[in-house]
Amino acid sequence: MLKRAGWKCQALGCAAHGRRGRIRLYADHISERRDGAASLDPVNGQALCPKYHAEKTAQARAARMRS
Ligand SMILES: [Zn+2]
Repeated sequence: MLKRAGWKCQALGCAAHGRRGRIRLYADHISERRDGAASLDPVNGQALCPKYHAEKTAQARAARMRS
């Protein structure tokens, strides 16, 4: 999955381009597993750099607490 993404962060507006082994990329679930998304669905995956991964996780957590 990360390889398919070209080892780039797929966050909108993010300029981090991780070449293999240089920037750690997270295989992120676009829809959080907790929210009932299929964890093994390749469509539900994207590569994110640590910065955006942390941001997205924090946002998802905040959204969950509001509901
Ligand atoms: Zn990024």
